[in-house]
Amino acid sequence: MASVRSITQQLAGMDVAPKPAPSAPTRPAHAKQPSQQNVAKLLTKFAAPNPMGKAPSSSSSSLRPPNTNTNPNPGAAAAPGEGRTPAADPIGALDIGRYDGGFEQDNEKRGEKVYGEAAEELALDSSVSRYVHPTREWNLGTFDIGKPLGKGKFGRVYMVRTKGEPNYVLALKTLYKSEIVASRVEKQIRREIEIQQNLRHPNVLRLYGYFHDEKRIFLMLEFAGKGELYKQLSKHGCFSDKRSARYIDQMADALSYLHSKHVIHRDIKPENLLLGINGELKIGDFGWSVHAPGNRRMTMCGTLDYLPPEMVEQKEHNEKVDYWALGVLTYEFLIGNPPFEDRSGVNATYRRIAKVDLKIPPHVSPDARDLIIKLLKYNPEHRIPLKDVANHPWITKYRPKGLSRGGSDAY
Ligand code: ATP
Ligand code: MG
Repeated sequence: MASVRSITQQLAGMDVAPKPAPSAPTRPAHAKQPSQQNVAKLLTKFAAPNPMGKAPSSSSSSLRPPNTNTNPNPGAAAAPGEGRTPAADPIGALDIGRYDGGFEQDNEKRGEKVYGEAAEELALDSSVSRYVHPTREWNLGTFDIGKPLGKGKFGRVYMVRTKGEPNYVLALKTLYKSEIVASRVEKQIRREIEIQQNLRHPNVLRLYGYFHDEKRIFLMLEFAGKGELYKQLSKHGCFSDKRSARYIDQMADALSYLHSKHVIHRDIKPENLLLGINGELKIGDFGWSVHAPGNRRMTMCGTLDYLPPEMVEQKEHNEKVDYWALGVLTYEFLIGNPPFEDRSGVNATYRRIAKVDLKIPPHVSPDARDLIIKLLKYNPEHRIPLKDVANHPWITKYRPKGLSRGGSDAY
């Protein structure tokens, strides 16, 4: 596993990396302090202000409330670009709901201070001016806290709104430092945060910034208004061809983007996917992703059902593990369970994966079947490339008219 430092160095070399903060001596005395400005700019572009606030400069926000008149088929997942609100449209207020006092309760019960190296490792603050002063622009007092959105492994997630106008709506996720240390995942968490903060794609959940106090790390995340995709899948059992194809189209685009930034996700599964306010898909969990330019890695990770043969057999692997997972996801969307699931145990599942023991039920359409077979190839090099997924007849057939793929500008 690459060290945090080397990953940080690699990120610094990427065009998505934040510009290094000028150090105190080189900053001209008259220059404005950048951090608050930068985050505000970022939020102006991507988050949803309330109706009293200034309209954001971009119309691509998933944080906007759903447009009531553009989606003719509310049952289907809207693809990006569908049902979005032009910047000039009136923006309805998002109700952030009622706070249940969970942060304070948790802080009493589970928060312990951490010391030494771990404290240093987890002193995560995205404000650029931390190099200049010890001041921190963001803290819990910056937000009005609303309803709980969920519980994660290391803390709760709340819907929040910035107190200052134009009152951006976000998801605020807490991570208890002592629990991170007890699970020995300081480096993994740091890596997850560093990776996610540098990614910008409409189908990748945005991490706007982060800050910490003695006991906790707080992540300011894009609010995924329609929650977990997994819940939808459990509710419906499986999805229609149209809905599945639109999700897979968005996934392929997001994965192409991640791979172009040398990020391999490695943990694609419905539990890690969220839905934006317009039903668009958002990849939301980067726990196992790795930033590995030109690197073949041999770490065993990921969820069993989505593991590709090369990982089951503990061979080296590359970004094509995500192609395999996309095939498993397509299957699970259409059929309702993953293709190699074997109730008799882990080893049986492993064997089925290694043999590519794939049985596609007869009701699956020929085009969908073709794509699944082309993604679930034993040899990673034989898997259909993501650009060809985007042009596959099963995908293009269901793509909303006027939406071309091949770049994020399509949104
Ligand atoms: P787990 O192991 O359960 O996946 P985790 O630490 O990865 O935990 P998350 O999955 O990020 O935690 O968050 C827990 C839950 O909070 C999610 O399942 C989801 O329901 C909700 N949630 C998290 N982030 C957001 C968000 N940005 N917008 C809306 N809901 C969210
Ligand atoms: Mg999660």
